[in-house]
Amino acid sequence: MTNELYLDGNATSAVLPAALQAAMDAMAHRYGNPSSTHAAGLKAKALMLGVRERARRLLGIGDGRLMFNSGATEGIQTAILSALCAIRERRALGLPAGELLVYGATEHKAVPESLAHWNRLLGLDLAVQPLPADANGRHDLAALRALAPRAALVCTMAANNETGVISDLDGIGAVLEGSPALWLVDCVQALGKLPLHLARTRIDYAPFSGHKLYAPKGIGMLYVRAGAPFTPLMMGGGQEAGQRSGTENMAGIAALGAVLQALEEGGTFRTHAELVAFRDAVADSLRQALPGIVFNAPFDGTLPTTLNFSVPGLSSKELLDLFDAAGIRVSAGSACSAAKAAPSYVLDAMGLPEWRSSSAVRLSFGPATDAAMIAAACERIAHCGEVLRAAPMPDGLVQLTAGGAHTWLVCDAASATCVVIDPQAALENRIGSLVQGYRVLARLSTRDGSGWPEGEQALALGARQLRRLAVGGGTVCYLLDDTHAFTGHATAADLATLLPPETLLCTASAQQEACCTSLRVALAQRPPSPDADVNLDSKALADLLRAHPDALLVDVREAHEHAAEGSAHGHAAISVPLSRLAGQLPRWLEPDGAQRPLVFFCRSGNRSASAADCLRRHGYRQAYHLAGGMALRG
Ligand code: PLP
Repeated sequence: MTNELYLDGNATSAVLPAALQAAMDAMAHRYGNPSSTHAAGLKAKALMLGVRERARRLLGIGDGRLMFNSGATEGIQTAILSALCAIRERRALGLPAGELLVYGATEHKAVPESLAHWNRLLGLDLAVQPLPADANGRHDLAALRALAPRAALVCTMAANNETGVISDLDGIGAVLEGSPALWLVDCVQALGKLPLHLARTRIDYAPFSGHKLYAPKGIGMLYVRAGAPFTPLMMGGGQEAGQRSGTENMAGIAALGAVLQALEEGGTFRTHAELVAFRDAVADSLRQALPGIVFNAPFDGTLPTTLNFSVPGLSSKELLDLFDAAGIRVSAGSACSAAKAAPSYVLDAMGLPEWRSSSAVRLSFGPATDAAMIAAACERIAHCGEVLRAAPMPDGLVQLTAGGAHTWLVCDAASATCVVIDPQAALENRIGSLVQGYRVLARLSTRDGSGWPEGEQALALGARQLRRLAVGGGTVCYLLDDTHAFTGHATAADLATLLPPETLLCTASAQQEACCTSLRVALAQRPPSPDADVNLDSKALADLLRAHPDALLVDVREAHEHAAEGSAHGHAAISVPLSRLAGQLPRWLEPDGAQRPLVFFCRSGNRSASAADCLRRHGYRQAYHLAGGMALRG
């Protein structure tokens, strides 16, 4: 799959061609400093004023202020600093100012983090109070009603970036009537998707980010209601009428202007009804491809451009990797925490079960998406479904990882029997889907030896045999033939006299080992491989393949990712997922095996680095990996 389908619009968007053109025009022809009084400066200033005027009209800001800045994070800082300075002044004058900083529990992290930061920095010591959300992701208005009389500042987003849930701003505004609280509404996800008439509301501050709606990163806006307190965050040359110093980002302003023009003139962005039809089509194809899928926010009351879902038995990482291989870019939970694969605090706040929160995927598209893109997305989603359905039953060892711990499956496809070692609750769905069609002979614990069938000396999995061996302190390890040992949390020293040195240790701790290590290597305690030549860039890979036509490319992504993508690099590649590497290792590590160069690759370079490192630690010098992964190969 080559051309990507970008379905992560809530994280950021591509730049609209008209916006790109406007930015280039600003840089090439209107590069003057808008503060300069000569013609070049005046030209730039005219451009800036025009964009501001359009934004004022579109957002309905009346006689409020609208300043350009770097984006919503800056707008949030400015708004919170302004509010907290005003609260401090009111307090000093003995006026009622409130004592709580209230924020919706599903707000973007920029809000609670900034509240805590400025509250601490200004020495205000106000209580920072999350406002609960209901099961549909909406603010709990009854809770807000109880807090409102004591609230100094209330922060509630217009629409949620993870779920697309649209807030009841009218309801919140009504609850805040009579409260001394200032009100910040994060409008980042609302721009271009919801009608906004800010001056008609009680909202004091509304930040925006251009890059969420086809403008470039680094340009944003902040609305401040007429009469709302204001303190500049940035002081200097007095730009933006002294409200935000620093020479303006004219290319960004020009690009944002082009987006706002498209919004105002119509024709570029789809109607609400069209977007709803797009969402329904995508949701239908997801339902067909991923049986058991649950959507984590009701469609009624959410932006039609956002779908948040979980699939039993598939982690968000697995789904992301599968979609990525099929050329579909989606994200897990919030984009900011995707690397950590943590449960989503937004879904947690909605009270969803842990498995849904930790395996959630967000698929979001921008309002300029067209029918052809949606049709292509549906087709690829269907392909992902086919790939998943066609996945063969696992055979051999399967390593599953969650929360820093490994669970191991020993599967024998011929006899359709399997054993699960150190099962974790968080992986139950996944284990269930993998062992479908298998007879589970035992679910074993290395901690206390539990699960072993009474009176059995060994468990037969087809031709393979699993035995139990006491390690000490009630812990046990399980020996698979004479090749592998499932050793739980036992250290190599614990096992030194119990096992032959070439036994491959399959531990329970991900800190101890990403894959597996022979006892001999573990006892030698070699530090992580320092070999720089293990990393190949594209050129080094091409050189190696030329010099060693027999080199084997090994795709260490999951089998369904491999299948979703088709051929990689134009070279035949075999599929040995990292999660199955332990089973394959003995074949590559045979004492007199010829060391054919092995080049591991995956999506980002993480899994392939682990695989190459594992082989090198066992003395396999000809192991390499594609640094940066396939993602960098275009
Ligand atoms: N608020 C919401 C709802 C967002 O989605 C984001 C970005 O993800 C932000 C604030 C922060 O925006 P930026 O990173 O552009 O400053």
